This record gives sequence, structure tokens and C-alpha cells, in this order.
Amino acid sequence: MTKMTAKPFWKTKKLSEFTPKEWESVCAHCGQCCLLKLQDEDSGDICYTNVICRYHDCKTHLCTRYADRCTLVPTCLKLTPQNLNDIFWIPETCAYNILNRSGDLPDWHPLVSGKPLPQDRQIDANVVSELDVPEDELEDHIIEDEDDAGLD
Ligand code: SF4
Ligand code: SF4
Repeated sequence: MTKMTAKPFWKTKKLSEFTPKEWESVCAHCGQCCLLKLQDEDSGDICYTNVICRYHDCKTHLCTRYADRCTLVPTCLKLTPQNLNDIFWIPETCAYNILNRSGDLPDWHPLVSGKPLPQDRQIDANVVSELDVPEDELEDHIIEDEDDAGLD
């Protein structure tokens, strides 16, 4: 006899039906959204840099000021099921973006694998803290896309 297992919440619920805890658990803590971005004044295009927010802890891959993040960093937006489609700069491989687009989470996601996020899915050691980069040098840190910050 085969044991029946319930489908996980992200396969059975709409994003808007997730509990706050379920919603938070979708974040894979890859760190991509904490990279500083520059916007072209004419085209509006967004460029990623390899410079990361001062509040990102590169060892734990967590925000050190999560509760206050949107106050301390006005450009740090709180993702919600309601605004997900409107934030055009969300990285392609952000777990929320993938779930929203495909209706499922990828194999590498901790909720699926039951393991920590693989190293090659995390921002790597090549990123530098914004504390070490003068604002007028940010353009020197533009990367082609977020993959260049260590993501495959
Ligand atoms: S890019 Fe998405 S999955 Fe990665 S840390 Fe940001 S919100 Fe979480
Ligand atoms: S405040 Fe925290 S969540 Fe927001 S960009 Fe900085 S490190 Fe990331």
C-alpha cells in the first residue's frame, strides 16, 4: 500500500491565501534582492551591482534588521502577493518570482529539498558591502545580471 502525502501549501493555495508564516518561508534567502541597483534615468532600465546592502549578513544570508528594513532602507520593499506583479526588478530566480510565474517551487528550494539553499544559489563572496563602496563609485560595480554576483 502506498502512503498518501498531502500536497504542500504552495501547490494547493493561491499566493493570497498563504499564512504570513507560509509566505515568509518562500524566501530562499539567496540575497539577490539585497544587491544595490541603479536605474538609468532615460530608459528606466535597472542595472544590478555586486554591492550589497549594509544590513545583509553574508554569512547567515539573513537581513540583520529585518523588522525595520523598510524604514531603514526606503528602497527595500516588502513583497506581498498584491505587489509581486508590479515590482519589475525582482530577480528572475527569486523564489517568489518563480512560484508566481510557474505555480511551483524549484527542486533547489529548501521547502522542496528539505536542505539549506545550495551554495551556487546564494550571493557569493565576490559581493562587497555598500559600506566599502563610495556612492560615486557604484557605477564601477555594475554587473551584467544578478548571475554575476555568484548565482548560476
Ligand atoms: S530574491 Fe527573493 S528569494 Fe532571494 S532573498 Fe530576495 S525575496 Fe528572498
Ligand atoms: S534592509 Fe535587509 S532585506 Fe532590505 S535590502 Fe537591506 S539586507 Fe536586504
